[in-house]
Amino acid sequence: MFRYFNDIFSGLWSLFIGLGITFQEFFKPKITIHYPHQSIKMTARYRGHIELIPGEEGQPLCVVCGMCEKACPSNCISIGGEKPEGSKKKVLTSYRLDFTTCSLCGSCVDSCNFGAIRFSKEYNLASTRKEDFHFDLLKRLEESKQ
Ligand code: SF4
Ligand code: SF4
Repeated sequence: MFRYFNDIFSGLWSLFIGLGITFQEFFKPKITIHYPHQSIKMTARYRGHIELIPGEEGQPLCVVCGMCEKACPSNCISIGGEKPEGSKKKVLTSYRLDFTTCSLCGSCVDSCNFGAIRFSKEYNLASTRKEDFHFDLLKRLEESKQ
């Protein structure tokens, strides 16, 4: 008889403990989101693939010095530039990144003395095709202006 009531009491006790925890959690701020319909702001130190930093008028700050290309241990970067007629400065014509071999080491960002590249906050990358991870960063910069 004692065991019978003891079992009922301990069952109810554990039910109340469980409901108490549920009740506490119910009023706490939500930490989950409805992915992929909602997205979160990534932290300052998050490293997505690299991207070109736009200047005041949206133009790339890159001066085509080639330091990032040389610094990359995985040969992921390939840049192109040309000197317009009458100009002493080169203009960036292409900036390609092969993200399939990038280790996000940061050597390219560290080697840029012009503050022209940074890690993006992009985390929403998924594809079964390798080609989708070959990025034209100049095109991406131009598209981001629109
Ligand atoms: S983060 Fe490292 S591996 Fe990736 S592109 Fe830059 S230098 Fe290359
Ligand atoms: S190091 Fe900077 S300025 Fe030089 S090519 Fe790379 S991104 Fe452009």
